[in-house]
Amino acid sequence: MLETLRRIVQEVNAAKNLEQALNLIVTRVKQVMDTQVCSVFLSDIPAKQNVLMASDGLATSEINHIRLSFSEGLVGQVYTRAEPINLENAQASEHYKYVPGTGEEIYFGFLGVPIVHHRNVLGVITVQQLEQRSFKEDELTLLVTIAAQLAGAIAHADAVGEIDGLHGDTRGSDRPFKGLSGASGVCIGTSVVIYPPADLDAVPNRKTHNIEGEMNAFIAAVDATKDELQKLKERIALLSSEDQVLFDAYLLMLKSKTLINKTQSRIAEGYWASTALRDTVVEHANLFSSMDDEYLSERAHDIRDLGRRILVHLQSGTRGTQIYHEKTILVSDELTASALMEVPEGKLAGVVSSTGSSSSHVAILARALGVPAVMGAKDLPTNRIDGKILVVDGYRGNVYIEPSNLIITEFKKIIEEENELTEDLDNLKDMPAETTDGFRIPLYVNSGLLSDLTASRDSGAEGIGLYRTEFPFMIRDRFPGEDEQTRIYKQVLQSFSPNPVTLRTLDIGGDKTLSYFPIKEENPFLGWRGIRISLDHPDIFITQLKAMLRASEGLNNLHILLPMITSISEINDSLSLIQKARNELLESGYENICTPRIGAMIEVPAAVHQTDVIAKRVDFISIGTNDLIQYILAVDRNNPNVAELYDCLHPAVISAVKHVVRQAERNNVPVSVCGEMAGDPAAALLLLGMGLETLSMSVVALPRIKWIIRKFSYKQAQKIVAEIENFEEARDIRAYLNKELDKAGLGGLIRPGKR
Ligand code: PEP
Ligand code: MG
Repeated sequence: MLETLRRIVQEVNAAKNLEQALNLIVTRVKQVMDTQVCSVFLSDIPAKQNVLMASDGLATSEINHIRLSFSEGLVGQVYTRAEPINLENAQASEHYKYVPGTGEEIYFGFLGVPIVHHRNVLGVITVQQLEQRSFKEDELTLLVTIAAQLAGAIAHADAVGEIDGLHGDTRGSDRPFKGLSGASGVCIGTSVVIYPPADLDAVPNRKTHNIEGEMNAFIAAVDATKDELQKLKERIALLSSEDQVLFDAYLLMLKSKTLINKTQSRIAEGYWASTALRDTVVEHANLFSSMDDEYLSERAHDIRDLGRRILVHLQSGTRGTQIYHEKTILVSDELTASALMEVPEGKLAGVVSSTGSSSSHVAILARALGVPAVMGAKDLPTNRIDGKILVVDGYRGNVYIEPSNLIITEFKKIIEEENELTEDLDNLKDMPAETTDGFRIPLYVNSGLLSDLTASRDSGAEGIGLYRTEFPFMIRDRFPGEDEQTRIYKQVLQSFSPNPVTLRTLDIGGDKTLSYFPIKEENPFLGWRGIRISLDHPDIFITQLKAMLRASEGLNNLHILLPMITSISEINDSLSLIQKARNELLESGYENICTPRIGAMIEVPAAVHQTDVIAKRVDFISIGTNDLIQYILAVDRNNPNVAELYDCLHPAVISAVKHVVRQAERNNVPVSVCGEMAGDPAAALLLLGMGLETLSMSVVALPRIKWIIRKFSYKQAQKIVAEIENFEEARDIRAYLNKELDKAGLGGLIRPGKR
């Protein structure tokens, strides 16, 4: 059964559109279940009706014509109850509704299963039979499994506008693709799709003016593939004659010209060689995989493998020459922080990723760079939008592809209003972050790039609360040496001197990887990351510590922050290594090496519970709420499926932060928040009332948070903290805080989607 299901899913995935997919499903399910009818109804929400979209067994003339109200018939029962209904005699049911012309009067056995996606019922799949018997358990479970698979395909088709006809509206390109807000702001720009190498499916649709160049590149790639296969074949010859057959088949395919000629004619039509190759390979592979003969259908796999090999050669000549538009919107299925950093200065206008969420490092980096970002836009057809005009609405998490002038004009207006607000906030730049009753809470900025230091200083920040040293590591192709790091850190320390600058030691692992230090783990966020790597690699750690200490010579504004502290031994060992680094520098002749202030990040629940003993060993504490939330709530910060559950206002998170603040205060150790929570207007109000000493946030959030602080009294904020003790749900807390912001005339700062 599993094999049958796998086949059906494969075929459905290869279908060109939803209509083809539904037709395939009804035919295959009818065959597999050896029944007489299989039909799919999809719900038309505005019309409150279930519409017959495909059927094998009922009169085809009724497809798209049968429309049943949501509560009508057995289909309506399955829909409203959101549960399967299995009847041996459907016609005897009080809910049975006979629709003349369908030809269903001869069927008795009925099984209907709801198609559910993320708690929403999208439609119903039914099977009917002549016999008066209910369907067997394994038949029911098969249909339930198929319905679950189908749900994803339908949701996708809905998102890309394929089921417009059903809704009878004209969504067109003015209906946005939905994702999650990654970084606030809106922008209009041209997309550049970044795709992983050697992945045919990821190749974007791209046109070319240089047909001859593309043709030559393709021929060269084919020749290189032939050479490679020939060499492989010779090597394999020593091992097994069976494997040789495979290479013969590959070489034959390359000689047979089918792949070659088709690809060449696509290039001649103006397509980029990689796009032309992708389409030809997919077309051939689909042809083979739909064959019933198992041997032939397996050949689809070989064709894709061959295509991938040609692609690798093709890309070895073309990658690295990425052209960026003046207003580039970087789009990818899996955007990396280093891809963002590769965009030339001044050209990055926005960021869109079909995976990840607002707490992913890509989103954090986008916020640091002050560009809007949409994350987790799961249904975005990334490989079809290269070079297209996009509108990115980072507030609502929406992406519009080539929208109408109406939308463009609307967003241009928003951009203008935003610029005005920024200008207004600019006036606060030189004013302190001080409440109406004179309580000061210095605001620091989070940084990680040298290029954002000017913007950081211009924001009115009073220091750097978190400099993520891993970012400079990520854009290099090897570990930076001590001198190189010293130069970088010196610039950072100088930029805010004499104000404090907090350099965090290397925090790689999780979603921050170095191409030259790959870490392959099943569960990277629970794996080798942060201080764990540094302590396991004292060579790398000591080099970094020495560079930090040397950079601080003559400036003495260095604070060192240790990430991912989970056990006291990690602090003890780190302190010893810092001491060792300092001693070695002094021994080798450096005279002005300061004793930096050392801080620990509290971003793991274990550290929350040990704040008291941690505070006894360090000079300051910084709460990393980004990770702390994911570990307290068991919600992967990168997973868009559970992004709704990731909320800094969850009572458990608030209680953890309170506990840390109390313990730090008891030990007279200053405590700050450097996670994104500090830049959330509603949360910042709470943090103010909780007595945090400083807050550190993105450069974009800083002026807004300062505005909030200057509008409230410390007393008011404390009262608000006491008030929310009574709430049990994050959404009630947010609603309450938003109301308070609104009352203070700051409603405009409430993030859409966080209302
Ligand atoms: C955090 O976890 O809150 C934090 C500031 O660190 P990062 O986002 O870099 O993991
Ligand atoms: Mg962290």
